[in-house]
Amino acid sequence: MNVLIDTDIIIDICTKRQPYFTKSDTAYTLAKDNGYRIWIYTGSLQTLYFEIVSEIKKSTINLGKQIPLSKIKKQARESLRSLSQSINWLAALSEDGDVFSDSNPIICQLVKAFGRLGENALLITRNDELLKKNEKAISTENFISKFKSKELRSIPFIDLAAQQDLLRDGLERKIHNVLHHGQYILGPEIRELEKELTRYVGVKHAITCSSGTDALLMPLMAFGIGPGDAVFTTPFTFIATAEVISLLGATPVFVDIDSRTFNLDPEKLREAIHRVKKDTNLRPRGVIPVDLFGLPAEYDIIMSIAEESQLFVLEDAAQGFGGVYKQRKAGSLAHVATTSFFPAKPLGAYGDGGAIFTDDDGLAEKLISLRVHGKGSHKYENVRIGLNGRFDTLQAALLIPKLGLFPEELKKRQQVAEKYTQNIKNTSLKLQCPFIPSHLKSAWAQYSILADRRNFIQEELKKERIPTVVYYPTPLHLQPAFSNLGYAEGDFPVSEMVSRRIFSLPMSPYLQEEQSKIIIEVLNNL
Ligand SMILES: *Cc1c(COP(=O)(O)O)cnc(C)c1O
Repeated sequence: MNVLIDTDIIIDICTKRQPYFTKSDTAYTLAKDNGYRIWIYTGSLQTLYFEIVSEIKKSTINLGKQIPLSKIKKQARESLRSLSQSINWLAALSEDGDVFSDSNPIICQLVKAFGRLGENALLITRNDELLKKNEKAISTENFISKFKSKELRSIPFIDLAAQQDLLRDGLERKIHNVLHHGQYILGPEIRELEKELTRYVGVKHAITCSSGTDALLMPLMAFGIGPGDAVFTTPFTFIATAEVISLLGATPVFVDIDSRTFNLDPEKLREAIHRVKKDTNLRPRGVIPVDLFGLPAEYDIIMSIAEESQLFVLEDAAQGFGGVYKQRKAGSLAHVATTSFFPAKPLGAYGDGGAIFTDDDGLAEKLISLRVHGKGSHKYENVRIGLNGRFDTLQAALLIPKLGLFPEELKKRQQVAEKYTQNIKNTSLKLQCPFIPSHLKSAWAQYSILADRRNFIQEELKKERIPTVVYYPTPLHLQPAFSNLGYAEGDFPVSEMVSRRIFSLPMSPYLQEEQSKIIIEVLNNL
């Protein structure tokens, strides 16, 4: 939620102005500690500075002190500087100059700028005219009391805004760079990002592409997957994992999951490969394990089972990017791996995107060709059927600073998860918090809990304005889109049981201390 703070309130805080200071500071602190995005309008900067200087001057005179103006000005700058570390500057636009037909141009200007913060924004002020004129304007008293009555509680399921606040300067600069150099397709930022990605994941090649789904599709195309081929995967995942197999005319063969990690169960994989060889005419070709909710699958065992039957292994790390398996990063755990830059994934862009990782030079070359219509040595020589599967330069430019921040964000996700796991203690509801085997680290794309009374819990949390989501309510073998595969209820009992009981809590590196405290308290008191 966006909150614009009026100049008066800022002056109260910066100069400890009585009798307003306590209320103004309380409102500001509540907003800050509870994940609101606090804005100050740059158009009011001059007023702000001028008024703070004169307030400080006034109070020193009242105290009978003689302080030189330069010292007072320095004090004013200091107080604004420290405040500006936890606020956002709302930039003035040219439309803000066109305000002189209004009887109060200053208020008119502020309201115009405020309008750009969107529907849900609030304007904290103690200006009576503003409070009367604008229904989104709220006094400090009202803000505090509404907040305490939970009316203003706002816990995002995934907080993309907090990251944007941290990176705004860098993001804006990157956007302008691209607008100026104009290489919109496969521009220099694509190469820069791919280089950074190979370094981060620890692989030879990183090939960015149009989405996490196309990232899965292209290696299958490179392996020549088609009708008559069987590709093994989990039914407890996002549709894209299995969809790409069907899209190429091959057959997804589902393998049930482990009840504690929710990832593909290697023992059942062995059985499934055996069964396909014995009972069908399908050729077993490959396995797509998924690093669900951020937790890598059991790769050492899966790779050795795959090797016995000469199958490729494609790691779907759309959620797992940032996860670790025995000191190795997700994205480097199989013959080829993919991730997604969908905004809500651990490393998210501001649009669609994905990447493919591999150490295999020959495969990388094919993927680069597939990404641009199966190009050969030049653009208009087409050596195979491919796609328009490129990642946008603009998105790549935005991902570069996001990747820079990513290691820090992973640590914060880990802290949020630990806090949940250590403090969620509701024995009557028999909640099962995530299980992380000791040789693994999760990227915490989601924090997912199993509970018998899921619907009741979700309803109760909703009443407290705490959002939850179910990933995934229907396992893929029961999806209408896969009815042609002939599966029935009961075929994958663990996936079905988990689908009925699972739900996810708000998770983001920027979930505030106060917010997780509320969530834990509400859950424990059910
Ligand atoms: C999101 C997701 C995908 C697809 O990624 P898009 O970028 O949305 O195409 C594939 N697999 C899994 C496991 C995912 O979570």
